[in-house]
Amino acid sequence: MDSFVLEPDTAQSLSKVSRGYSDQSMITTGMEEVRKNRPRTSGKRSKAQVAGVRHLIVLLGDQLDRSSAAFDGFDPAADIVWMCEARDESTRVPVSLPRIVMFLSAMRHFREKLESEGVQVIYHELQKNHRSLSETLSKDIDALAPQRVIIVEPGEWGIRESLRTVCPASLLDERIDRHFLCSHEEFEKHSHGRKQLRMEFFYREIRRKHEVLLDEEGEPEGGEWNYDAENRKSFGREGPGRLAMATPVAFAPDAITQKVIAEVIAEFPDNPGRLDDFDWPVTREQSLEALKDFIEHRLSAFGDHQDAMWTGEPWLFHSRISAALNLKLLNPKEVIDRAERAYRKGRAPLASVEGFIRQILGWREYVRGVYWRHMPQYLERNQLSAHEPLPEFFWTGDTSMRCLSECVGQTLRYGYAHHIQRLMVTGLFCLMLGVDPKEVHRWYLAVYVDAVEWVELPNTLGMSQYADGGVMASKPYIATGRYIERMSNYCAGCRFDPAQSTGEKACPFTTLYWDFLQRHESMLRANPRMGLQVKNLARLDTKQRAAIAQQAQQLRRSLRAPKSSS
Ligand SMILES: Cc1cc2nc3c(=O)[nH]c(=O)nc-3n(C[C@H](O)[C@H](O)[C@H](O)COP(=O)(O)OP(=O)(O)OC[C@H]3O[C@@H](n4cnc5c(N)ncnc54)[C@H](O)[C@@H]3O)c2cc1C
Ligand code: SF4
Repeated sequence: MDSFVLEPDTAQSLSKVSRGYSDQSMITTGMEEVRKNRPRTSGKRSKAQVAGVRHLIVLLGDQLDRSSAAFDGFDPAADIVWMCEARDESTRVPVSLPRIVMFLSAMRHFREKLESEGVQVIYHELQKNHRSLSETLSKDIDALAPQRVIIVEPGEWGIRESLRTVCPASLLDERIDRHFLCSHEEFEKHSHGRKQLRMEFFYREIRRKHEVLLDEEGEPEGGEWNYDAENRKSFGREGPGRLAMATPVAFAPDAITQKVIAEVIAEFPDNPGRLDDFDWPVTREQSLEALKDFIEHRLSAFGDHQDAMWTGEPWLFHSRISAALNLKLLNPKEVIDRAERAYRKGRAPLASVEGFIRQILGWREYVRGVYWRHMPQYLERNQLSAHEPLPEFFWTGDTSMRCLSECVGQTLRYGYAHHIQRLMVTGLFCLMLGVDPKEVHRWYLAVYVDAVEWVELPNTLGMSQYADGGVMASKPYIATGRYIERMSNYCAGCRFDPAQSTGEKACPFTTLYWDFLQRHESMLRANPRMGLQVKNLARLDTKQRAAIAQQAQQLRRSLRAPKSSS
């Protein structure tokens, strides 16, 4: 429902104000033009119309939360919400089609919800002439002259800086993001005086603070803080089918999403990815349904199999709620509470529930803390001096390495891969090949429906690429093709052999593993957690080492060539 009742003479231009300026001049002609086209709500002149805008509430695409601090003290008669589909968000890297649709569809559904409540929304739909968020906002602030501009702290460092530049400090009211369970101050307090940050210690603290999965004495339920050792099972030869996996609930595109899909295809014909399978939750109601579906049907098996992979099975026992969480359609505390309740009612085992809660209460809050503590320098880190380009098949999935064609193919098709596919297939390959971490970061930020910089960057640059030299992870996560063979059925359908490091059938992962150990031997020797792997390297004689180095070089050369097929 539209919240505006239009005066006849201003109807045409006002529809541009409420639905997004389809003509750039609408926002450049200044205060007079905006006043002339003033909206009216429910037949009554609002305070905003009589005295100008009191508060301009700026909502970013990942701030779709009606209970956020942005709405504290909100007066629908005096305040206006401002939203913008910034084109440069989709073009500064070739963002995948599922990710663009995810954000725009969720934003437009949120606008509709606000308008149905009588909230006035200035909404800039995707258009060729809207280049940047800050440029568009700057013009609207000039035109509307609000008394205050209210924003919840943005999740991305660069956006926060540009909004602070655009909006004069005297106008700006930047509020904390209550979505998170750990504030910046709390994370600083936790980090203070520690030589090294480790998620496990952070996790224990935050679990105690929020009283999650504790017994009556305030100790961890079941006696252990962490059941990770029970969370690494593969599916065995029979595959996941024997576990009666329920297909996750899907959300067929409604009229709003269909319109977004049509516009996105027209606007970004060359961007990667596909949209024929788009079925992500794009509203809070749908997100709650997706969460319920996961808790009832997949949470109980999540723990055992969270690291396992299987051809043609993108979802397995994962929750598919990361995008809903990151866009703030779901609140992490409600997700944690529902998982804990399933355990208390005997509907899911402790190892599964703890494993799931650890991802959200532990990892998700922890990476946010790392991001804000280390930005903006973090983005520049390249500890391993990696400078290879990202192989072209990352944008097409066209490679004869079965594990990579499966994980990249699935990523482009759905905008999704689970954690181990990201860490131990695509990420591992880039790390051992020596790809420039900035290029790896740009790819991860572009292709996943849940990609937002504060969570993506520490996972990519730190956890997966070790480019931060150990801020996130205590060692580089490296492995031969044998790891992938153990955790999936990918190798069974591959022309390479994970046991071989040289020769025609050599698995590129296995070649690159030994090559990585050789190239970084002295650095790795100093890391006690790498002792065994460095010791194994010492077993190779000079000839074997040279053959591996040569094979790795050949692989790099072939991948550098345009349109390579490895
Ligand atoms: C290189 C790399 C890049 C990543 N980029 C992103 C990203 O841009 N956005 C994103 O949300 N996650 C990212 N992750 C973390 C993780 O892969 C995804 O959160 C997860 O795969 C989402 O699928 P799901 O909702 O089915 O998660 P599940 O496996 O069901 O896990 C439940 C929830 O836990 C949280 N979670 C799990 N692992 C992590 C983690 N390592 N860090 C933070 N939160 C976590 C997510 O909110 C997720 O929805 C990345 C991981 C790696 C290794
Ligand atoms: S053999 Fe190597 S390249 Fe092929 S699927 Fe297995 S790990 Fe991947």
